Amino acid sequence: MKILVPVKRVIDYNVKPRVKADGTGVDLANVKMSMNPFDEIAVEEAIRIKEAGKAEEIVAVSVGPAKAQDTLRTALAMGADRAILIETDAEVEPLAVAKILKAIVAEENPGLVILGKQAIDDDSNQTGQMLAALLGRPQGTFASKVDIDGDHVAVTREVDGGLETVKLSLPAIVTTDLRLNEPRYASLPNIMKAKKKPLDVKTAADYGVDIAPRLKTLKVSEPPVRSAGVKVADVDALVAKLKELGVA
Ligand code: AMP
Repeated sequence: MKILVPVKRVIDYNVKPRVKADGTGVDLANVKMSMNPFDEIAVEEAIRIKEAGKAEEIVAVSVGPAKAQDTLRTALAMGADRAILIETDAEVEPLAVAKILKAIVAEENPGLVILGKQAIDDDSNQTGQMLAALLGRPQGTFASKVDIDGDHVAVTREVDGGLETVKLSLPAIVTTDLRLNEPRYASLPNIMKAKKKPLDVKTAADYGVDIAPRLKTLKVSEPPVRSAGVKVADVDALVAKLKELGVA
């Protein structure tokens, strides 16, 4: 079985995003970029499935700028076998990413596509679901456990108030939640080896996909600054204050 893992280059999760002064988006100039954390979990899970002898090849895919090659090299250093970059400087919405992935699935025929449940930059949580719908394949989203058993996969999902386990027939689409695994760090020898692994560069046009945006961002703004707190001397003063503020 082959596993396809889409990985997105996003602002590093430790960086506090800055909104551009004109409110048109987030400022990406000189900002540290990394692999989307949920995608690291997806790569790790694919590697564990391969290590368990249940997959033979892992292909990492990214849709993004030339710099997204670094993200793909990270996936290769972790243990993916080869990579495909669909190069574009445009911002690509989940539907267009899903259409590109659909075309790659038609070419590569993976038994499993493991995506992150969401990209931490747009927080869309859409691509995996859209891909499953476009392909007409079963989906197990928000996975906290993935268990391949022959031609099926059992996916334990984190749902409100508990866990749900669904059994999907392969080929299928899975999206990862935070508790699925702890991704490994790439070792230095593996980082060196990853430089020699195959990385194909293509364009959306190669797959006949129109990536023109369907949505228009009207405005991006910082969250309101929290106002300062007030200290009160005792419970009576607290009650009086709450009454004054109209919350009691
Ligand atoms: P989203 O629907 O944008 O929240 O993204 C969900 C998941 O889809 C991500 O965790 C990635 O696995 C995948 N994905 C989204 N955008 C891209 C992209 N540009 N390149 C590769 N994978 C992507």
